[in-house]
Formats: sequence, structure tokens, C-alpha cells
Amino acid sequence: MRPRAHKVHPTPGEVPSRPGSLLILQAAELLTMRGPPGPRTRETAHELGVIEDGALYAEGETLVDVGTTADVLARHPRADLKIDATGKVVMPGFVDAHTHPIFAGSRAHEVEWKSQGLSYSEIAARGGGILHTVRETRKASEEDLAREGAKRLQAMASFGTTTIEAKSGYGLRTEDELKILRAIAQAGRISGLDVVPTFLGAHAIPPEFEGRRADYVALVAGSMLEAVTSRDLAQFCDVFVDEGYFSAEEAVHILTTARDAGLRPRIHADELSDAGGAAVAAKVHATSADHLNRVSSEGVDALAGTGVVAVLLPASSLSSHLPFTDGRRLVAAGVPVAVGTDFNANNWCESMPLVLALACHHNGLTAAEAVVGATINAAHAVGREGRVGSLEPGKQADVLILDLPSWPHLGYRIGGNAVEVVVKKGRLLVDNRPTS
Ligand SMILES: [Zn+2]
Repeated sequence: MRPRAHKVHPTPGEVPSRPGSLLILQAAELLTMRGPPGPRTRETAHELGVIEDGALYAEGETLVDVGTTADVLARHPRADLKIDATGKVVMPGFVDAHTHPIFAGSRAHEVEWKSQGLSYSEIAARGGGILHTVRETRKASEEDLAREGAKRLQAMASFGTTTIEAKSGYGLRTEDELKILRAIAQAGRISGLDVVPTFLGAHAIPPEFEGRRADYVALVAGSMLEAVTSRDLAQFCDVFVDEGYFSAEEAVHILTTARDAGLRPRIHADELSDAGGAAVAAKVHATSADHLNRVSSEGVDALAGTGVVAVLLPASSLSSHLPFTDGRRLVAAGVPVAVGTDFNANNWCESMPLVLALACHHNGLTAAEAVVGATINAAHAVGREGRVGSLEPGKQADVLILDLPSWPHLGYRIGGNAVEVVVKKGRLLVDNRPTS
């Protein structure tokens, strides 16, 4: 077995030099993910656009040509860097549609409580959960949060992630929410990943507002939102709609106000209980409805035909001991499905390949649907479908070379890392090729 040096560029504070031209040749399978505009549903939910003996050519940050090796080489015989992908799978970088990567401290101590059978709500009632992380994060400096966040993003990149959605929500005070959103942007700059920022002031009711939830909702939808939008620190607004968190009515108020202020809505929906989150997503024209572990039939019907992308987060079902979302039911109803890690203080999961395997084994997705969910549908779920999620001329050169003989191994292999090369905007971000 050849040694695998774990090499990730860049080191903090340093991105690789300007990209030149790049040829990747002779891939056993090149997954283009090309297809009709709009998120993929039903019969297009499993179309990977596979090219056997595939190749691609990029100039600078942009893909210029994708096709068979013979065709691409005939048009572009030379490049600054040529990589032979014989026997490998080449595909777009993963888009992680749901993360909370910026927080201080850890929740390692809560694993023992989970082992004793305490539920998510019982852990929160003991002073654990989100509010524990809020206390730690309020004490942390922006610089420390950005540095630790960048390390997490680099770990995600080593598993093939090139774009992430990233939420605030561990501050719950204006100055701390702003601090987290600035740290999100800085972590993106350090790591070289594209980061799509989401304002999640409505993640929980902070302790100082206990018994005054209406006042906190007014703060989030008022001056806190205004502080975020006036500084252009977020593209999305999210609300945790669930028992013990925010109601459907509160979410409609916050999300329509945010939408009027220029942020696109997305929702934590029906994770712990059927709290009507899916119906809110449909009502406010959310870009995505995430979790959906306990969504009702009415909720699924409400989502169908709206274009709202359902984001499945099986790793958090695993870590929070919750039922796995029935992805099969969503696909059958014509709802577009994406997947994400839900990396957060309670669910330290950096690996999209692990999420793909879990989605196949526990959410009822086929391997092809999971691949679509981790690429083009996830790009739609974060509003970046024009730039990432497929290998098509004009899109960003965000490319993975996987040491796998064929793409169904993505659903089959659990917990390993077959990522050999990660190209981000034409630059080599991760290079685990054997040295000789
Ligand atoms: Zn979340």
C-alpha cells in the first residue's frame, strides 16, 4: 500500500499563486453533472453526465473545455500543468449546503450525556447545547474564531469540499453575530474556499431574553438584521423553526423582513418536531428547507413544486440521535434534494464523502442522487448554481480527482478519504498524489 502524505495547501494566511492553464486527462469517469437549468428532481435527480475517458481544460479560474480525452487534447494540446487521472473519478468539488463552522470551545463532554440516553432537549435543559457554545463564543476574539474556522475549512477541503454555506448563530447579540460573520469571511479568505454567509440570529433565545421572546424576535428582525445587511455580511437569513426554538409565525416575520432587506430565506425545518417549518419554507419562497427529519405529509406536499431544495443532514441525525430523514419520500414527491454535513459544535463532521454514504444507507438516496445532492443541487441550495456544482465551460474550475474506480463507490465506502487532488478556482488546493 502506498503511503498517503496528507498534504493540504495553503498554510494559513497564504493561498497558492495565480493559476495558469490546467489539463486533467484520461479519467475513467468524468462526472460533468450537466443538465437542464434548475435543481434536479425526479428523473433528472440521478443524471451525472458521465464521460468515460474524460478530460477537462481550464484557464485561470475558469473551465474552458470538457469532453473525451481525444477531443479535449485535439483542441487544447498544451497546459502549464497536466494531470493524468487514469483509473480515477473526476467530478466537481463538493458543495456543503449547511454548516456552522465558527464557534469556540467544544461539546466533547456532551457525548457522555448522549451515551447515558439524554436527548437533544434534555442536554439543552442541563445548560448544554447551543447556549453552552454561545457562552464560549461570546468570550472569543474574532481573530481566534477566524483562525480556528479556517482550520476546519481546510479539513473540509481535504475531504473534497470547495464551497460551503456558513451560518452565524452562536453570538445571539448584535456585536457577536457581526464578529462571527466577519470571522466566516476571513476563514474563507485564509482557506481559499468559497463561503456563502448566512445570518442565523434566530438560532435560539439567549438567556438574557428568557421570558421575553417577542423582544428577541423584534431585535433579530430589527436592529440586528439592519446591522448585518448594512455591512453586507450575509447573503441568506436562516431561522431554527422547532419546538423550544422559534415558531412558524416568528419565522415568517423574521424571514419576510430579511427578504425585504435583500437576504434570501432558508430554514432549519422540522428536525426535532413537526413544527410547520416546511410550510414556512414554501410560504416565504425559501431557497432551502433543511433537516426535515419529522416533516409531515402536508409539509412534503407544501414543498413539492415550489423549487425549495430539501437539504438532508444525516451526520446530525447520527450525532443527535434523531431519526434519519426519509429522502426517498422527498425525491418521489418531486422535491429537489441536496446534502450537507451540518458541521457544528454538536456535530463535528468535516466529511462530505461520509455524508454521501450515510445518505445512501440511511436517507434512502441512490448513490447517483447523493452525488447530485452534494454537487449541483447543493449549488442551487446555496444560490451558486451559476458558478459551481457542475463541470461545464464557463464555470469555476473546482475539480476533484478521487482514487476510486467508479462513482458508485461514493455511496459504498464509509469513513475513508479517496480524495487525491482538489482544484479550487484553477489552483491545486490539495495534492495527495503519490510522489513517485
Ligand atoms: Zn444547522
